[in-house]
Amino acid sequence: MFDVGVIKRLAQDVGFDLCGVAQCRKFEQESNFLKEWLDKGFGSSLEYLKRNIECRGDATALVEGAKSVIVCAVSYKNEISDGYPADHNAKVASYACTTDYHITIKQMLFALCKKLKEIEPDLSARCFVDSAPIFEKRYAVEAGLGWIGRQSLLVTPKYGTFVLLGEIVMTAECNEYDTPYKGAGCGECRRCVEACPNNAIKERHIDTSRCISCATIECRDEGEQCNLHGWIFGCDECQTVCPYNKKAPRLSNTKFAPLFNPVAMTRQAWATLSHEEFVERFGTTPLMRSLRKTK
Ligand code: SF4
Ligand code: SF4
Repeated sequence: MFDVGVIKRLAQDVGFDLCGVAQCRKFEQESNFLKEWLDKGFGSSLEYLKRNIECRGDATALVEGAKSVIVCAVSYKNEISDGYPADHNAKVASYACTTDYHITIKQMLFALCKKLKEIEPDLSARCFVDSAPIFEKRYAVEAGLGWIGRQSLLVTPKYGTFVLLGEIVMTAECNEYDTPYKGAGCGECRRCVEACPNNAIKERHIDTSRCISCATIECRDEGEQCNLHGWIFGCDECQTVCPYNKKAPRLSNTKFAPLFNPVAMTRQAWATLSHEEFVERFGTTPLMRSLRKTK
């Protein structure tokens, strides 16, 4: 049995800003909502969402005998997160200006897992970053980290939405668990809804066929149909306006510091980069995931 306080201290030691621990549970309501949402076609070409829906609602399907989910978050808010000059037409989401979080967060989770196994050598645990079929934002709420905002992202009271998440699903129990988040939430605010240039934020969900972030990263064929409003990779419009982001501090974990300044790059500069130059300068960033769109 783990002491929650010890887990949180270790999470901080490996570089996370936030950590909460939730009991494994099934999210049947969320599974049903996802199925309905996909049936209505809102998932457009996000094929990965259609796989393993059952696992998403049940972490024990990912780790046999799982009892606890550790949810960690780290802020990546940088100067790009505050927004671009109005006429900039080669905008890159601020998280994509740093080392690919799939790599960084996974390393941090592995380091945390190693420390946990030093305490409990028989521990069975798996680390997940983004790609795994798990309702990570729902677990983050369950672990007390924040709430899911109108733009469907996790909002944390201190760091806003500019956070990256990682989870450890493990077989060990904890001496206690965090209370699910019950703060004020979005209240009457609708700034993200109003700021979305493509009206992609609907009640309780995102229409991915209209979302620039999806169009430039995942739904590549839809990029042509969706007005990209000067974005070439991702989109921060619905985050920059969030009042919680405006008051959030900049990142403190330097592993997430920007590796380049996209304000200094014009659309023409991107287009004239050779493949070799692109890989050399941006090979460790998430931009590599969408080389075709960016070039
Ligand atoms: S990422 Fe951009 S396009 Fe997508 S919902 Fe947010 S503001 Fe709209
Ligand atoms: S902008 Fe307002 S409505 Fe949107 S997530 Fe932030 S607080 Fe919620």
